[in-house]
Amino acid sequence: MVRLFNEFVQDAVNANDKDEYRFSWIFLILIVISAITSVVDYLTGYVVLFWVTLCFALLCSLDYILCKISPRGVKLASWLFGIELISVLTFFIYSGIPSGVSAIWACIVPACSLFLYKRRFAVTITTIMFLISIFFLCTPWGYGLLKYHYSMAFRIRFPLIYICFFLISFILETIRQGMYKELKRTKLEYERLYYYDDLTGTLNRRGFNELVEKTLTESGDKRVTLVILDIDYFKRINDTYGHLKGDVVLKELADILKKNCKAPISRWGGEEFAILCTDDSLNEKIINKLLRLVETRIFDRGDKKIRLTISIGVAYADGNVDHMVLFRHADRCLYEAKNKGRNMAKFCYINKEIKK
Ligand code: GH3
Ligand code: MG
Ligand code: MG
Repeated sequence: MVRLFNEFVQDAVNANDKDEYRFSWIFLILIVISAITSVVDYLTGYVVLFWVTLCFALLCSLDYILCKISPRGVKLASWLFGIELISVLTFFIYSGIPSGVSAIWACIVPACSLFLYKRRFAVTITTIMFLISIFFLCTPWGYGLLKYHYSMAFRIRFPLIYICFFLISFILETIRQGMYKELKRTKLEYERLYYYDDLTGTLNRRGFNELVEKTLTESGDKRVTLVILDIDYFKRINDTYGHLKGDVVLKELADILKKNCKAPISRWGGEEFAILCTDDSLNEKIINKLLRLVETRIFDRGDKKIRLTISIGVAYADGNVDHMVLFRHADRCLYEAKNKGRNMAKFCYINKEIKK
């Protein structure tokens, strides 16, 4: 039971921002409450109230169905619900059944609408309901129209209680939204730190591994290309110009890759990058063009003019390939390129036997 409750709370936290989630829960609760109330009203002889609560339960069911159909349905249901809520509560104030207590239900409007709607729309609905209540309870014209006659004490207290409910709900909702935004920001920051490399802004090894796993599972028979590239003699750059300049070079190289390869890029290791692609955009021609681009580029154009080359290993597979096999082949190609003299790319095509 506790586990179920925890799961429910966890779901609520995760889906906090989803309109569909908030609305469908409120509708479900209202369907149950209105259905029970209508049965009680029927048994106790309040026939008019029975029909009103029954209609409300049916309208909430319609809203619930709309919510489940599409995001547009949620929007429509939210508007309808605003109108239904105001109409039913106005009827409660007007009829005063049973013995005037129904009018107090109007006090749920601030909390309900602040929870459901954007704050501006919630304030609009709350104000409309407030003005309707004031018209009926506090003006001679409205009061003259009422079927039920409330006590003076109730008529004075009602607006005060309503405003009190509104203020408390508003403050609580503002705190909730602030906390939710903070939580969301922290989550995004945490995800960024968890999956991205700070220096280059590319995916880190963990992020890339997860992406590769996911892509390979989803790619089916589609071609998958894994590129691993490594800066040649990067240690010399660090030794000659210092580590800070080395960092600038890494960042610049990452920017070149981002600009020229429209595929997910990762800083796979210290001065190694990996790219995964599921179309033909990393064919041999493009890879060789990338080599020439880096070779002719002058890095860190401050006082130093740094030049460098890279070596590249590329593995192509036509679907259903294992993560490890793909990396092993790209890595082997990279070392082949290093051994054959650097500043070049080596390619391999993983055939069906190897894949198995
Ligand atoms: P090779 O052509 O065989 O790849 O030679 P290399 O010098 O590039 O390779 P090696 O593995 O000997 O050296 C890699 C260097 O990368 C060593 C390390 O100091 C440097 N490095 C790793 N991470 C960073 C980093 O974040 N910033 C800087 N500036 N250097 C880094
Ligand atoms: Mg290197
Ligand atoms: Mg290396």
